[in-house]
Amino acid sequence: MNAAAIQQYLDFAYIAAVVLFILALKWLSSPVSARRGVLAGEVAAGLAVVATLYNPELVAYKWIVIALIIGAGIGIPLGMVKITAVPQRTALSHAFGALSAAMIGIAEYYVGLSRISRFEMGEIAMEVIIGSLTFTGSLIAAGKLQELLPQRPIVYKGQNIVSLSVLGAAVLLAAALVIHPEQTVLFPIMVIVALLFGVMLVTPIGGADMPTVISLLNSYAGFSAALLGFVLNSKVLIVAGALDGSSGFILSVIMCKAMNRSFTNVLFGAFGTVQVAVGKIEARPVRSASAEEAAEILDAARKVVIIPGYGMAVAQAQHKLRELHDILTKRGIDVSFAIHPVAGRMPGHMNVLLAEADVPYDRLIEMDEINPEFPRTDVVLVVGANDVVNPAARNDKNSPIAGMPILNASEAQTVMVIKRSMSPGFAGIDNELYYLDKTLMLFGDAKNFVTSIIKELNAVAAGT
Ligand code: NDP
Repeated sequence: MNAAAIQQYLDFAYIAAVVLFILALKWLSSPVSARRGVLAGEVAAGLAVVATLYNPELVAYKWIVIALIIGAGIGIPLGMVKITAVPQRTALSHAFGALSAAMIGIAEYYVGLSRISRFEMGEIAMEVIIGSLTFTGSLIAAGKLQELLPQRPIVYKGQNIVSLSVLGAAVLLAAALVIHPEQTVLFPIMVIVALLFGVMLVTPIGGADMPTVISLLNSYAGFSAALLGFVLNSKVLIVAGALDGSSGFILSVIMCKAMNRSFTNVLFGAFGTVQVAVGKIEARPVRSASAEEAAEILDAARKVVIIPGYGMAVAQAQHKLRELHDILTKRGIDVSFAIHPVAGRMPGHMNVLLAEADVPYDRLIEMDEINPEFPRTDVVLVVGANDVVNPAARNDKNSPIAGMPILNASEAQTVMVIKRSMSPGFAGIDNELYYLDKTLMLFGDAKNFVTSIIKELNAVAAGT
């Protein structure tokens, strides 16, 4: 087959990959078709990789094989982390994607130095800046999520001016390189400044706002890949990167709205936010109850709302909760699950776990829909959720989560909270909900405690 014919096949494979990427995004937006979406995305990526390997312009496979071995050596163990560690793994994936885009841009600059046009220099500079800042920003995000770095916002006086100046310096260096691409000394300085800006972008963002940062970094990684597509003249990379970048961007805007956060603050690294005080948590008395008492209260209820959170994911209590749902439903009790958009540690975390446990989709009720139901709810059972039910978001304007919409659990007649201790959630702050007269603390691991409640309910049914 001649080169022109091969090129035609390759173009066809790339178009098929692009169509599959678009379908994957569409299918991923509903739990019913999400599996199909994942498969379509995998096939599309596989197709694009195989087509690229067939490219007649490729001359040496040696380096590709070495890179594949190194990549697989890092990627396979990364893919096997526990589901609770997926957010930090995702942040690391963004870091690697962005690093590779930045490194290819750096290589293109040095290899093509003698014949680089101003336009190409502009493309390379933008790609390298976005790739570099996404690399360090994603590493900081992964460090915060893994709790290797403090989750609280790290802020100081004059931070906005310093950060904006660093970003401005990177842009000025890029502009200087567009005018004088041969000034090789400016290039590494631009890279270092962009790497520094990535750190400054994410350190001022507090733990509770990390979901928006993760989706924004996803978007940046996508855009740097799209720019890389221009540099390498790869249409599939341009389209796939643009799809990734724009969908991540839309998700960030949606999440900012859901969390009542200013998009510009998140976009530019919390510019203009006020410094918030995270107070020390004092020991105060709470009311606690046993599994037997909890089972009696649930049995006497007509309407129960279960609020799952990160602790449910840690304990892997979703299957036991499904069992509890089934038992209570059989007794004529109306049971639903309230889903907060940032419960857990990744978007859709609760939906995924509850779907895995076969909880019917129509029993998962989104925040805006379930909130008016709480005053009519007899019992709210909070399972390993903390920040997403913290009334401080509404009542304390100095709280790090001030303004974030929450599930109004405190409006129910009785609140029961399963958690292991009085430790705070991701935002690191105390929760007034636990000290209300109507609240009972059920101390223990979520899975074990729900198992004990089920045992008690079954014992009541068996008349023992
Ligand atoms: P939180 O992190 O606020 O609280 C989780 C609670 O679960 C803790 O108080 C902990 O208490 C309890 N817990 C942990 N392990 C167990 C266990 N085995 N059994 C029972 N309880 C357990 O979770 P939420 O879901 O309420 O809120 C999510 C937070 O994470 C928000 O601040 C959100 O902004 C942030 N975030 C969300 C992301 C997303 O995309 N969804 C991404 C990154 C951050 P104890 O130790 O006492 O048991």
